Amino acid sequence: MDIDPKKLKVLLTEEQILAKAKELGKQITEYYKNIKEEIVAVCALKGSVHFFSDLVKNIDHDMTYHFVRVSSYHGGTESSGKITVNSWVKENLENKHILLIEDIVDTGNTIRFLIDEFKKQKPASIKLTSLLIKNAHDHGIHVDFPGFEIDNYFVIGYGLDYDEKYRNLPFIGYVE
Ligand code: 5GP
Repeated sequence: MDIDPKKLKVLLTEEQILAKAKELGKQITEYYKNIKEEIVAVCALKGSVHFFSDLVKNIDHDMTYHFVRVSSYHGGTESSGKITVNSWVKENLENKHILLIEDIVDTGNTIRFLIDEFKKQKPASIKLTSLLIKNAHDHGIHVDFPGFEIDNYFVIGYGLDYDEKYRNLPFIGYVE
């Protein structure tokens, strides 16, 4: 399935996203400044890949990189509701400081699932940042370092897909 390029509108430009990554990086650096252990930075694939990469460069703290992949969407714009783990962190996370880096919080189901799974590994702390937050008042998820609150659009680009395509758009867009 394809999107009609004439109907594609820009919601957030690359410049806006990079500025936000810089701002969040400063906040995160400040938050962890009295913690001497490294941050375990977790990228929730695939959608967070570009935001993860922009953000970590702006965090001045020792860190290690980790990647998890869970899926909650079967394709298109419809959520299947069910979350499956495709790949998980192999390292022992006990007493580690996890920073979970997400692309978007929509219903909050994925984040709730990820946080519950990480809690089982007894980390010292779990903090959450997300580039985009939809339906901000419905999901009840506390995002420690929030990016942009957006209206209930289905967005694509900058890592976010429509049927696995459009992840490479250098902006966040939506179809009118
Ligand atoms: P939630 O579980 O919070 O409803 O949704 C989280 C996941 O659903 C995101 O990580 C993302 O993969 C997908 N998702 C939610 N909203 C959108 C959207 O507007 N566009 C795209 N491309 N994916 C979305």
